[in-house]
Amino acid sequence: MSQKDKALHIIQRLREDGHEAYLAGGCVRDRLLGREPKDYDVATAAAPRAVQSLFPDTVDVGSQFGSIVVLVEGEPFEVTTFRSDGPYRDGRRPEHVRQGTLEDDVRRRDFTINAMMYDPAEDRVIDLVEGREDLARGLVRAIGDPHERFAEDRLRMVRAVRLACGLGFAIDGPTVQAIQDHAAAVTQVAWERIGAEITRTLTEGGARRGFELLDETGLLEVILPEIAAMKGCEQTPDYHPEGDVFVHTLMLLGHLDAPTETLAYGCLLHDVAKPPCRQPAGERVTFYGHPEKGAEMATEILQRLKRSRAVAERVAWLVRCHLRYTQAPKMRLSTLKRFLAEDGIHELLELCRIDALSSNGDLGYYDFCRQKLAELGEKEVKPEPLLRGRDLIRLGYAPGPAFSAMLQAVEEAQLEGELRTAEDAVDWVLERYPRG
Ligand code: ATP
Ligand code: MG
Repeated sequence: MSQKDKALHIIQRLREDGHEAYLAGGCVRDRLLGREPKDYDVATAAAPRAVQSLFPDTVDVGSQFGSIVVLVEGEPFEVTTFRSDGPYRDGRRPEHVRQGTLEDDVRRRDFTINAMMYDPAEDRVIDLVEGREDLARGLVRAIGDPHERFAEDRLRMVRAVRLACGLGFAIDGPTVQAIQDHAAAVTQVAWERIGAEITRTLTEGGARRGFELLDETGLLEVILPEIAAMKGCEQTPDYHPEGDVFVHTLMLLGHLDAPTETLAYGCLLHDVAKPPCRQPAGERVTFYGHPEKGAEMATEILQRLKRSRAVAERVAWLVRCHLRYTQAPKMRLSTLKRFLAEDGIHELLELCRIDALSSNGDLGYYDFCRQKLAELGEKEVKPEPLLRGRDLIRLGYAPGPAFSAMLQAVEEAQLEGELRTAEDAVDWVLERYPRG
């Protein structure tokens, strides 16, 4: 069964038992847009207990909020009971929810385009809030009074931006105005949820627009003040004809095409330390130390956004190394090989390419690295070691701290192309290091 058929199966089963049930929310929106939905959610009049009793395989993911996950052939579907939300006191979630009608359930959703239901029996879209018109106009619009809706749940402000950039939509004027008024309070919601929306803003298309919208709505200043600080941070025009650091960073985001999370954050954060490192020097300005300081700042920012440790480490490395490739033509062969053998080298070079395209367009250093990588090949860049510790012991050297220095010297000579075989390496070592 396809994902959609499985969802329809759930709806049919609920109806056989006498409960109203529909496809709801994002999947209805995506199907009307001709996009493949990420997941199919079901809304129903059946209470959570009834849902649990109708299906053999369920997970209680939040029955107090009316949500049960039903597994069909191992695939999870969220089945949510029609509800109306009780009062919101913390700007995050309702104190309690009550079972409600279809109409209640539509009105507690965030945006008109997310609030449509689809009735498969009659092949009919149920649209109580002009969601179809907004889809056709390309508009993200809060349901009801946007001020109230953002006061209820602050996360909706970031969702508005993420939806608008992902779909290439605008945000309706009064909805933008309300976000501007409430932006400072966005930190009332868990950073985990903010971080997830920011990551989707960066990786699901329209990242540049997304960050322009975060800026326009005032959310950027609150969530990522370090990025907002790039505005007006002027650079020397011959290297950076495009303008200040913010303009430059937006241009990088404009080049992202279905990026990994780490490449996207690498682009966003590569120059994050330019504002604190900026020093005027006569006609010019310098930013000494910004890659190192930037790596520290990136780590801190990604911790704030609750990204994984692996992501934070890789991004910090990208930021720290983002200028190294300009040294490549001057590197000793062994240094160049070690650089090209780094784990994230392809991601780093992609960042460098996008960085160059977003300033003076000079791809010379990038092309040099790519060419060397192709010319040398993986084996040559990261060869099997010619000697290991056990070989040194066999040759009669006493194990100890000197070993690693000897092995490193052998590796160096190997990478420089001076040593090709294990026999050569043995002679080379015996000649240089006395035994005993
Ligand atoms: P996608 O899954 O493609 O991100 P989606 O619209 O399905 O888009 P989800 O986060 O899966 O987004 O949420 C499912 C539905 O639940 C939404 O379409 C919306 O109707 C509702 N919803 C989600 N988050 C909120 C919220 N914070 N406030 C009100 N309604 C929400
Ligand atoms: Mg969804």
